[in-house]
Amino acid sequence: MDTLRNVLSRLQQQGAALGHFNVSDLVLLKAVLAAAVEVKVPVIVGASEGERNFFGTYELAALVKVMREEQGVPVFLNADHTHSRAKAEEAAKAGFDSVVIDFSALPFEQNVSRTKDTVEAIKAINPSILAEGEIGNIGTGSEIHETVSIDFRNLSTPEEARQFVDSTGIDVLAPAVGNMHGMLKSMVQGTTKKHLNIDRIAQIKKAAGVFLTLHGGSGTEDEDFVRAIAAGINIIHINTELRVAWRRSLEASLSSQPNEVVPYKILPPVLDSVKQVVSSRLKLFSTQLTSEDLRLSTG
Ligand SMILES: [Zn+2]
Repeated sequence: MDTLRNVLSRLQQQGAALGHFNVSDLVLLKAVLAAAVEVKVPVIVGASEGERNFFGTYELAALVKVMREEQGVPVFLNADHTHSRAKAEEAAKAGFDSVVIDFSALPFEQNVSRTKDTVEAIKAINPSILAEGEIGNIGTGSEIHETVSIDFRNLSTPEEARQFVDSTGIDVLAPAVGNMHGMLKSMVQGTTKKHLNIDRIAQIKKAAGVFLTLHGGSGTEDEDFVRAIAAGINIIHINTELRVAWRRSLEASLSSQPNEVVPYKILPPVLDSVKQVVSSRLKLFSTQLTSEDLRLSTG
């Protein structure tokens, strides 16, 4: 299988982005894999500290390893939002392809020093692992929020992006460009959408010169995704949309079969519902790919 760095470089040239989808159980993991196989594109499976604690860091790594060999589609594994060096080292040892080192809640200088220290630690374990760093505030929690808790006027700047990349040695940068973790109720209902600052993405890309990740993609206007990719976004995180689909379809499946107790009869509609969300996002993120690109991307 090609490395994550090579796949990101190739997709960047082709004008596409990699979809990153969070999983916390086997149903979600199977749904993400099935969607990638269906759309015939590489994919990143992500798990934050909370998701890894529930799933098991080594258990998830082992399952992804088996599934990527079985399915023949490039599947990468990312340790999402990791808040300590110890947890980052654990993910590197377990065989994760990348780690999101997140000290973005700290003041800038402390974020720089803790990120740099953790980048060095995980590269010592696996020199080809990709290290992602995060600047700015995009809120916490991929869940349904009552109100917006962040100030969209406080976007990351090209200057701080360049300074952060230069002084930490990260391979991938996650900026604040109008994105936000989680969704408002109105976004779940589909009456409002998130909008991104495309000009700022382009400025940060030029200044930082590294791969860029868009966190908190759930509920974003489709057109904004396409323009964000053209402006330099390489990885797009979708989590809350999957969680909403998971809960809705689980409730529907349970209520349509009130006497059913067999998990493998209750859970397939849930898997299918999550898979549809992932498939539609993967298709959108790869709209620029030609059929030849698609053949190469999974070949
Ligand atoms: Zn995130």
